[in-house]
Amino acid sequence: MENKINRRNFIRTSSIASVGLAMGLSNVNCASNSQIKKAAILGGPKAYTGDWSKWPVIGQAEQDELLKVLNSGGWCRLGNKTAPKFESEYQKQTEAKNVLAVSSGTSALYTMLGALGIGPGDEVIIPPYTFIATYNAVVLNYALPVFADVDIESFQIDANKIESAISNNTKVIMPVHIGGSPYDVDKVHKVAEKYSVPVIEDACQAHMAEWKGKCVGNWGLGGAFSFQASKNLNSGEGGAVITNDDTFYQNCYSFHHQGQGADAASLVPGSGIRGANLRITEFQAAILLAQMTRLADQVEKRWKNAQYLTKMLKQISGIKPAELYDGVTKSAYHLYMFRYDKEKFSGMSREQFINALNAEGVPCSTGYTSMTREKYITDLAQNKHYLNVYGEKRMKEWLESLSCPQNDKLCDEEAVWFTQTMLLGTKTDMEQIVEAIRKIARYSAEISKI
Ligand SMILES: *Cc1c(COP(=O)(O)O)cnc(C)c1O
Repeated sequence: MENKINRRNFIRTSSIASVGLAMGLSNVNCASNSQIKKAAILGGPKAYTGDWSKWPVIGQAEQDELLKVLNSGGWCRLGNKTAPKFESEYQKQTEAKNVLAVSSGTSALYTMLGALGIGPGDEVIIPPYTFIATYNAVVLNYALPVFADVDIESFQIDANKIESAISNNTKVIMPVHIGGSPYDVDKVHKVAEKYSVPVIEDACQAHMAEWKGKCVGNWGLGGAFSFQASKNLNSGEGGAVITNDDTFYQNCYSFHHQGQGADAASLVPGSGIRGANLRITEFQAAILLAQMTRLADQVEKRWKNAQYLTKMLKQISGIKPAELYDGVTKSAYHLYMFRYDKEKFSGMSREQFINALNAEGVPCSTGYTSMTREKYITDLAQNKHYLNVYGEKRMKEWLESLSCPQNDKLCDEEAVWFTQTMLLGTKTDMEQIVEAIRKIARYSAEISKI
């Protein structure tokens, strides 16, 4: 009880200090405030006193749905009803005309590129600030991934960098709603329209995120979602394609089902050329049906908490939350991403900042490393199949085009992440995150000497 009262007093003190900051006092000036507790990494008390939300949330519904499938003996989607039922539920949530559940987010991207017949010689434009699967989906088809650098303010693909990445061989633009926040849909899709190139949205992190009131994944030819364990909707592994184009849906269904039609006996026109087995299981669909019952509430909670957190963090000099574009009416906040400016923290390195924040009981990380400098990717210039298809000159050019300085800056120096599960907590959780960062700011000179 005493602790609680102390904390309340402390929060009051700290909000007075934030007024000071807003008035232009530096972080250093506030260090003189004797009420501020010492940073945990220097031996002070942890700012975070709660218990972070557990993930996944599991209830009776998961057990019921899962046992139904188990006991029915119908474990494959063919001839059974759980996967179609999930697809219909997801269709209602996203308001997309067609939903195809698949085995993973990577499968969803691979299916869409496969349905479009993307192959050797084709180029696909992607951002460098993303999970490796975005890149892999392109390379699995022996297409050439061409990178458009990021807008450092938003962490999203920079719409202004796309046009110069387009060539006669560009067959798809595959932007990513990274962190679950929509990229600039209007600007990106305008460029795509100008060149008549379809957009495949990598919405793997962006369940229920909205651009101008409409769920992402609906704006391009198709959208990919992931239900892998870390994602905001979780069935261990799993994914979905959404699309408002019926023919494209048929082709996706076919590709994910050994090139066969929805009715296994008939081949759908334009499909059946090739395919794989990327089907979701009834078990995954069962878990998804149960998890879906909480999705909308969780989305609202993350959105509210993230907005509150942003409002507070913006007042701290040297902390810049990833900006949302004007058209964003909801972010899924799979990741809460912000930029750290060490100059405002007495030159304390980002690694020291992360260690200090972890010590406060606030988990965080530096996020992605710079993809375009990874050996995994630069080695593609020496890949024998790529050399065969594109030639030495093109692959040399490609290697040189990999420079993405804005992305490097984010990855090497500035980005810090919180995960989506932290945003399922309370308002107090958000306040304590801020309290932790304020403590670190005030003691930054001391911490940087450790
Ligand atoms: C998770 C993720 C994927 C791949 O999803 P999996 O289900 O893990 O295959 C693709 N793109 C992005 C941006 C992701 O975060």
